[in-house]
Amino acid sequence: MEIIKMENISKLYKSGQIQVEALKDISFTILEKEFVSIMGPSGSGKSTLLNLVGCLDHSTSGTYELSGTMVDRLSDSKMSDIRNMFIGFVFQNFHLLPRMNAIKNVEIPLIYRGMNTKMRKELAENALELVGLKERMHHLPSQLSGGQQQRVAIARAIVGNPAIILADEPTGALDTKTGDMIMELFVELNEKKSMTIVQVTHEEEIAEYGSRIIRLVDGEIVSDVSSGGKSNV
Ligand code: ADP
Ligand code: ADP
Repeated sequence: MEIIKMENISKLYKSGQIQVEALKDISFTILEKEFVSIMGPSGSGKSTLLNLVGCLDHSTSGTYELSGTMVDRLSDSKMSDIRNMFIGFVFQNFHLLPRMNAIKNVEIPLIYRGMNTKMRKELAENALELVGLKERMHHLPSQLSGGQQQRVAIARAIVGNPAIILADEPTGALDTKTGDMIMELFVELNEKKSMTIVQVTHEEEIAEYGSRIIRLVDGEIVSDVSSGGKSNV
């Protein structure tokens, strides 16, 4: 089943006389339960693409279908409903709230859904258990290592049971060994929990944890290859 379907997507940034075409007429689909890595040099359009996939921004032209819903022409508020329902985000620098302990951080997406306290606690504990950090749930981010903070952030991303995890350089702030542990967690979420994962990374070794690598150069897809060597273009 296709979960992400982009057709002829372009993104133009305009500021005064200056115009940048960050994405140039790109098309691709991602199936449910795929683990896809997006690579490319700085300025190639990776963040722009992730923002569009994550319903954080509108394309300039083209169509984007997310799990059967055409999202690109929705209002911002409808788009954020879709985003909250389908997508969990993981960032390079974790983006945890420093004054809240681990479990409170994980509960945040559930607060937006208006869930009651008891239910929130239960789901947040389960998510922290899944990432192997239940015993640290009352620690503040500053009392956790980088890898542990990223695991809390991953628990927050998955607590609402989204279909898709979008990760922007998830290992960028971590040493190699810790980064590998985070990738092993992604592989487990992908294989055991059937989550679709799309990550942006600069690192070839990290990209290879995915089963498919899409490469961007100057806003265009220059290659799209499955780990078995099968080309998708
Ligand atoms: P990457 O994530 O691969 O580094 P980006 O998607 O951030 O690439 O950027 C792609 C191109 O679009 C770059 O030329 C960048 O300068 C430009 N760009 C990105 N965001 C904006 C913006 N908000 N306004 C203007 N130009 C932008
Ligand atoms: P990354 O390291 O993820 O590639 P970037 O440094 O490309 O991030 O961009 C960081 C943020 O700044 C993005 O949200 C992007 O939209 C914005 N941005 C990037 N380039 C420009 C630009 N030329 N003008 C305005 N905003 C930009």
